[in-house]
Amino acid sequence: MKKTTKIGIIICDRYRTCAGGKCLRALRNKEGAFSMYTDTDLELVGYTTCAGCPGGNIEYTGEEMVKNGADVIHLATGMLVGYPPCPHIQTFKDFITMRYGVQVVVGTHPIPQKYLDLHTGLGTWSNPSWAPLIEQAMSDEQTRKAYD
Ligand code: SF4
Repeated sequence: MKKTTKIGIIICDRYRTCAGGKCLRALRNKEGAFSMYTDTDLELVGYTTCAGCPGGNIEYTGEEMVKNGADVIHLATGMLVGYPPCPHIQTFKDFITMRYGVQVVVGTHPIPQKYLDLHTGLGTWSNPSWAPLIEQAMSDEQTRKAYD
């Protein structure tokens, strides 16, 4: 029997009214950052926002997600593609990992092609420190276009 990996998602509060369409579609289809789960089923056990800059909910929401069984917490792709991208992503990742002993992955749904084009043009991610942050959500061009 396949095991089930329980997932928590934290989104950027700028998109607090988002119904989660792209993230949930990617989770269901195992696309974007969810493509790493080739041998396990996925179950969403938490979904919330950072509560707005500078991310006050990050300190607490990990605890609730872990109590609810989260094996992995994903920081939503919106934190990467919004303009400007969240400047605290690495801090969030490090904090949640250390404080709650849970794996944290940056990215949820594939980066939409139009955002890749925009940020490439702007040089947003030209600093090499962005490379490990965007890699999980990068996907192939066809998949990125399907999320435009
Ligand atoms: S930019 Fe970062 S800290 Fe600000 S609302 Fe978005 S995720 Fe939260």
